Amino acid sequence: MRLLLLTILLLLSCAQGVDSFGIKGLLSSLHPRKIIDGFNVAIVGKNKYENKTFRQDFRIENDNKIYSDKLDFFSTLATLGRSKKELWDESLASYYNEFLTVAEEHGIEIYDESLKRMYSMRFVDSFSSENTSNYTALCIRTNFQFQENAITKKDSIYRMEILRSKYELFKSKFSEDYETSGAASYNYLWKRIVYHELMHCLLHLGHLPKEDKYRDDIMYPSYSMNIPLTKREWNKMLKRNFSKSLIEQMEYVK
Ligand SMILES: [Zn+2]
Repeated sequence: MRLLLLTILLLLSCAQGVDSFGIKGLLSSLHPRKIIDGFNVAIVGKNKYENKTFRQDFRIENDNKIYSDKLDFFSTLATLGRSKKELWDESLASYYNEFLTVAEEHGIEIYDESLKRMYSMRFVDSFSSENTSNYTALCIRTNFQFQENAITKKDSIYRMEILRSKYELFKSKFSEDYETSGAASYNYLWKRIVYHELMHCLLHLGHLPKEDKYRDDIMYPSYSMNIPLTKREWNKMLKRNFSKSLIEQMEYVK
């Protein structure tokens, strides 16, 4: 089935030209599970973000050095203090695992390849990527090159950084019984923020258009810190977030 899908996508991309690959018409006929396959496998087009000066909560870094092997890249990353695999924070891992389950429940399959590229989720005192102090969290993709059997190969990793001070602020407002009380809670607002970054880092999807009708959606570019969510609102938000019609409206990050 995957091969068939790929063939269809390739045919379409040939017919329409690489840069103007029309995904929207195609998506409408697919099951949500296939949408993500499509995004991961066959999306081509200009990267909308790399050359823009306005700020986004995700960054694409291109590391131009050719590393002697993959390990060389990871050791350099650690040496420079940018990240280490061991820095993956346990309390964030639970959000990550829950996200995978929830995505699956909503019919979205996340590629193993994407999971492997997710390198770390951690709290930081300041972001390792330029001045982005207004943000709560950031998804950083690093593209790198390495040698393998005398061939230069390319790969990328994704890192999520969360500003510790912002987290502490939220945490002080968390409630123990948020899952049962039915009251609006900051626990759900916080989940919204972490899920937003996971959408960038694991599904490689960008933001929804900055239109009022998307204001209450996970992939809207901003959120209000003073509006906690009820369980009911959160579940509604999740259902919309993973729906085909909303995913079609999200920008894609090549
Ligand atoms: Zn974002």
